[in-house]
Amino acid sequence: MIEKMWDSPLMYRIEVPLPDNPLRYLNSYVVCGSDRWLVIDTGFNREECREALFSGLSQLQVDLARTDLFLTHLHADHTGLVGDFAGQGCQVYMNGDDYQYLVDSALDGRTWKYTEQLFMKEGMPPEDIEKQFSNQARKFSPDPSFSIHPVGDGDVVTLAGVDFQVIHTPGHTKGLSCLWLPKEGLLVSSDHVLFDITPNIQRWQNLPDALACYLHSLDKVRDLPARLVLPGHRKASSALKERVDAIKAHHANRLQELWQAAKDHPGATAFELAPHLTWSMRGKKWPEFPPTQKWFAMGETLSHVEYLLHHGRLEQEEKNGLYIYYAI
Ligand SMILES: [Zn+2]
Repeated sequence: MIEKMWDSPLMYRIEVPLPDNPLRYLNSYVVCGSDRWLVIDTGFNREECREALFSGLSQLQVDLARTDLFLTHLHADHTGLVGDFAGQGCQVYMNGDDYQYLVDSALDGRTWKYTEQLFMKEGMPPEDIEKQFSNQARKFSPDPSFSIHPVGDGDVVTLAGVDFQVIHTPGHTKGLSCLWLPKEGLLVSSDHVLFDITPNIQRWQNLPDALACYLHSLDKVRDLPARLVLPGHRKASSALKERVDAIKAHHANRLQELWQAAKDHPGATAFELAPHLTWSMRGKKWPEFPPTQKWFAMGETLSHVEYLLHHGRLEQEEKNGLYIYYAI
């Protein structure tokens, strides 16, 4: 499905399906300049995504030989098909930290091992961790043999003849980069601000207190005079400020729930605290969560645990090789 999003610059959204994934689809945005094109994000490295993206590009008569690719962040649902573009000689633009993390994950899986060991230490049973060995992010990850033009906060990059401002918004990943067109009031928000779902905030090895960084990055975009915000998933909206405030309130509630759970269950692990938080999983209770959702929920819980530790509201101890927590 192709939808026109903006007239000048001419911009379309190609809906790239993400089968068996609660995100449902990825929004790949295409900017059509007078003699060059820009594609923003790609979908997973799997046939269903490849077919949808490239048939959309061909309908829009995009010439790949004159196309650049901007990757907003490292996640495989945004970067999976980068090899198809790089192989055609397209130039790839991306934050350098996210690029390095993506390459490290692909080369020897060390970033996955770090997370597995951390989750184990935080009380997640090994059988739940093993169920993740074939998750979509691993199975459909990109071929890492591509190079990039690194982008950073405040850079202006001219792509498809349009001057985009890069806004670095660490949190969802360390290197997530939004694109901003001040004159038009157009923000490509990727997974920094989503409207129908709440962006997932994990615990990251390369980004201490990711949740605090994320909340700070929300403030960075909150007051932009945006006329339209183009998110990485689901629907676009113009209600940026309202959405940022709602996401911040969501995390404030979740932090309070976590603190209360730790107070009610002193000496619990993060894995034992997670079921006491409110999760919107279509009415499912914690034991019925699909393995991938349990994995994301665990990561999300840990980013909140880390925040409370940094802010002096939780205390961590080690017992029988596991971390346990007490509310302060
Ligand atoms: Zn993402």
